[in-house]
Amino acid sequence: MRKNLTGALLGACFSLSLCLILAVPAKAAAIALTFDDGPSPLTGELLEILREEDVPATFFLCGYRLEQFPEAAALLADTNHELGVHGYSHTAMSKLSGEVLREELDKTRALILETTGREPALLRPPGGLCSPDVRTAAEERGWPVILWSVDPEDWRPGVSGAAVCRRVTENAADGAVILLHDLDRRTLDALSGMIRTLKEQGFEFLAVSALAERQGTALEPGFCYRSFSSDSG
Ligand SMILES: [Zn+2]
Repeated sequence: MRKNLTGALLGACFSLSLCLILAVPAKAAAIALTFDDGPSPLTGELLEILREEDVPATFFLCGYRLEQFPEAAALLADTNHELGVHGYSHTAMSKLSGEVLREELDKTRALILETTGREPALLRPPGGLCSPDVRTAAEERGWPVILWSVDPEDWRPGVSGAAVCRRVTENAADGAVILLHDLDRRTLDALSGMIRTLKEQGFEFLAVSALAERQGTALEPGFCYRSFSSDSG
């Protein structure tokens, strides 16, 4: 009888310990939503969705579109969204000569400063096409190069908003950088549902620099990053 009681007590203690261990909340997973190719006539609606969902994001802005849509760019001025450079002409930067590349970067930086009053902190080359010269030019300007780990192809003809939402929610992982565009209504159609599903999956949203910091990655100018898993250091 005593043996049974001891066994029962040990079993209870073990179950309690296990419950306590399981009850300790794990650190939530985090991701970054990034929007390329803006500003656009849709920027205001995009920002409104992000505001309603209380989600910070990162915008990689294009120089020629900053000239086309300066009022849309100005909407980014007093927000908590991070800003980065996506080149002036959207030409593949790996094909540009050193001088033209540097002009593209500096002209776009100046346009971001002029329209938003803010300094860009990051570079994303169009198409993710990088080269040693692109990395050097980024390093000279103090910018890390940010690529991505999830690409739902929200710009591609024939891809529905539902498909964009599904591709993101099925492939999101802790530290992921999601590539989206400030370009097409399908992205807006997918966005609220996508964010809500990701929240249900337990994801927290951060701008790229904040995600890197949270995951223990010290961003270095001129280095390329695709994602920030918490054990990558
Ligand atoms: Zn682009």
